[in-house]
Amino acid sequence: MPRPHCPRCLRPDTHCLCPLIPSLDSRTRVLLLQHPSEVRHALNTARLAALGLNNAELIVGEVFADLPALLDRPGYQARLLFPGEESQALHAYGPAELPLLLVVPDGTWRKARKLLHLNPLLAALPRVSLAAGAVSRYRLRKAPGPGALSTVEAIAQALQVLEAPASFEPLLRPFEALIEGQIAAMGDDVYQRNHGA
Ligand SMILES: [Zn+2]
Repeated sequence: MPRPHCPRCLRPDTHCLCPLIPSLDSRTRVLLLQHPSEVRHALNTARLAALGLNNAELIVGEVFADLPALLDRPGYQARLLFPGEESQALHAYGPAELPLLLVVPDGTWRKARKLLHLNPLLAALPRVSLAAGAVSRYRLRKAPGPGALSTVEAIAQALQVLEAPASFEPLLRPFEALIEGQIAAMGDDVYQRNHGA
C-alpha cells in the first residue's frame, strides 16, 4: 500500500504543507508549465507556488496544445521567465504598464529547454530574467551555479521585483519547511558530508 498523500500538496499526509501555504493576490498572472518528470519530485516547488498564488495556474505536460488559448489573456503581456542573452531584466511596473503573464517552465535546465523546443510558441515569447546574484536557500541539490533558484524562489523574487513594495515572502514558508524537513530526515552528518560546512 502506498503511503496516503495529501491530494492538494501531494506530500505524505503526515507531512502535509497546506497549513503553511498562503493565499496571495498578485497583479501578475503566473503560468507554470511543468515537465511530467518533476511531478513526483520530493521538492515539487512549482506546485507550492501555484497553490500559494490566487492568480496562478500549473499545467503538466510536454507538448501544450492549449498554449495559444493560455497565452491569449487580454490585459496581460506574456513573457517567458528564462535566462539568455536577449532576456530583459525584470523591473517594477510603471503606472500605465500592463501586468505580465509570467510563463515559467519548471524542470531541470535540460527539461526546460526541451519544453521550449517542443513548444515553439513558448520559445518565441519575449524573455525576462532576474537580476544576477540571487542566492538560493535551496541547499540540497548542488545548484549548477550562482543564481540557480528553485522555481518557487524564482517566482517569489520575480513578483517582489515587479510588484514592490508588496511582499511575496510568505510564498516561501512551505518551501522552507520542506527544506528543513529534508535536511532533518537526511541527518546532519550526511548533510555536512554532501554539502560541506
Ligand atoms: Zn497538503
